[in-house]
Amino acid sequence: MKSAVGPSARSADIPATMLAVVFSAQDQVTLREVPTPRPGPREVLVRVRSSMICASDAKILAGKFPATKFPHVPGHEFSGEIAMSGDGRFAVGARVGVEVHVGCGTCDRCREGMYTLCQNYGKRETGHAHVGFTIGGGLADFAAVPIAALHVLPEHVSFDQGAWTDNLGVALWALERGRIGGGEHVVVIGPGAIGLCAAQLARALGAGRVTLVGRGDRLARVRDMADEVIDSAEVERLRGSADLVVEFAGTADAARDAISLARRGGRVVLGGATGTGVELSGVDLSTIVRGNLDVLGSLANPKGVSGRALALVAEGKVDVTSLITHHFPLRSFAEAWQTFTERRGGAIRVMLHPQAES
Ligand SMILES: [Zn+2]
Ligand SMILES: [Zn+2]
Repeated sequence: MKSAVGPSARSADIPATMLAVVFSAQDQVTLREVPTPRPGPREVLVRVRSSMICASDAKILAGKFPATKFPHVPGHEFSGEIAMSGDGRFAVGARVGVEVHVGCGTCDRCREGMYTLCQNYGKRETGHAHVGFTIGGGLADFAAVPIAALHVLPEHVSFDQGAWTDNLGVALWALERGRIGGGEHVVVIGPGAIGLCAAQLARALGAGRVTLVGRGDRLARVRDMADEVIDSAEVERLRGSADLVVEFAGTADAARDAISLARRGGRVVLGGATGTGVELSGVDLSTIVRGNLDVLGSLANPKGVSGRALALVAEGKVDVTSLITHHFPLRSFAEAWQTFTERRGGAIRVMLHPQAES
């Protein structure tokens, strides 16, 4: 019987040091050479090809994730090819996308497949990892990634598309939580990266009508990703009409809207407010009770759902490429960061390419 040994096969050109974004302390970010990580047991080394900046990275930098220890290499939306591996299924050269939650595998939640709710969060010694949060991530030339986080990219899925592995799974899980049905009217609140994945996935899963609710200039630009787009200010006209409402805006206003838009007997999935401190008030409970609503929380992407989402990308049913508004080589990280955090040029997602030719 084969035991879980460390990586044995490796590509020839793995340098001793690599370029990486380093959050050296709270509010301190640098781009510098660091030792190339050595994959541990049940990990592979991924040569990062495409890696995105996410609003969570700004929260990590601001010190809002207590489980993140500085110095920290961020990056949790990425893809690449395996450069070092001791695993036959994920061999050197395989193209992979990464999902971020790796459970310990033995706690009660992990045994249910809900490793996103692992009871050993942050305890690396148990096997738990949150890629780019509690362990180093993909805003670097290389990343050591647990095998449990990997999805082999379908043949026709590019590295840029593969960098959406995690986001797509988050969106698909929320729709599945809400038991989306063929022909239904689905409302998605929040035209950010994940909301836009959700709107497209709802169509791919057979929704009859998909309405995207948000505000700002972005709405006009993403019009094609839903059957209709509606400004949040005009949301009242949808009241009580949706079979399923999925919220990825993360505000109390959006959650209140989500509950009010569901038809009686409908489903509401709240997925945006993943951090603490957003309180919900001002909801007449009869809307939920007399409305016989299912109001559900949805966190992340358990049960390997990201792999199924990639299959839909491979079939051309979800367009993530047009959500990538900017591309930069990793060495231009400072400009990329400003572009994303200041939403320059209508930035939705900003893609870094660590292995770009200079
Ligand atoms: Zn993210
Ligand atoms: Zn666990």
